[in-house]
Amino acid sequence: MLNIVIFGAPGSGKGTQSKLIAEKYQLVHLSTGDMLRAEIAKGTEIGKKVDALISNGNYAPDNLIVSMIEQEIDAHKKNCNGFIFDGFPRTVAQAKALDELLEKHGKKLTVMIDLHVEEKLLIDRLLKRGLTSGRADDNLEVIKKRLEVHKQKSLPVLDFYKKSGRYASVQNSSTIEQNFEQIVHLIEFSICGF
Ligand code: ADP
Repeated sequence: MLNIVIFGAPGSGKGTQSKLIAEKYQLVHLSTGDMLRAEIAKGTEIGKKVDALISNGNYAPDNLIVSMIEQEIDAHKKNCNGFIFDGFPRTVAQAKALDELLEKHGKKLTVMIDLHVEEKLLIDRLLKRGLTSGRADDNLEVIKKRLEVHKQKSLPVLDFYKKSGRYASVQNSSTIEQNFEQIVHLIEFSICGF
């Protein structure tokens, strides 16, 4: 079983690379951002609760996110080769909760991959995406806020994984194919050590 966290700032390419990884290794792709947007689109209680938070560039509450992930793990655990977690964990509390959830099933995280991209390129990508994405949070004001929240709340997650020897990083600023190739190398290294 392969369990991978894809970590990165908004616009770092988490979603794009996660899809490719899920396809190559036949993993279940869990994107908390996609799950939350689906809840908003359906107008559920969860959706109503998080709509304003997300539109303003803030995070959804940890307990809500963790319980969504727990449900997905339970739903897929019997017939899957593992999971790719995209946009989760985003806080140290979420990272600890993920370890506990996996441990409960006798599983471990294989590796956390940090997609590193310069801030100027992040902003350019997100503004470009905003022209077609229809996302309420892809505009300059909210993009700046999201990058700030990412620095404050999510950068400490990197230390958490560094300390436990599960951290790997790539510079995710060349082509999608080149970046993917590097990521595959990292995954293979995490699996077999060379
Ligand atoms: P991006 O990384 O480009 O911001 P995502 O789709 O991963 O895109 O997330 C969109 C928004 O959804 C985030 O800005 C945040 O408000 C919310 N969100 C997604 N994942 C989480 C999470 N793990 N914890 C809290 N909030 C989250």
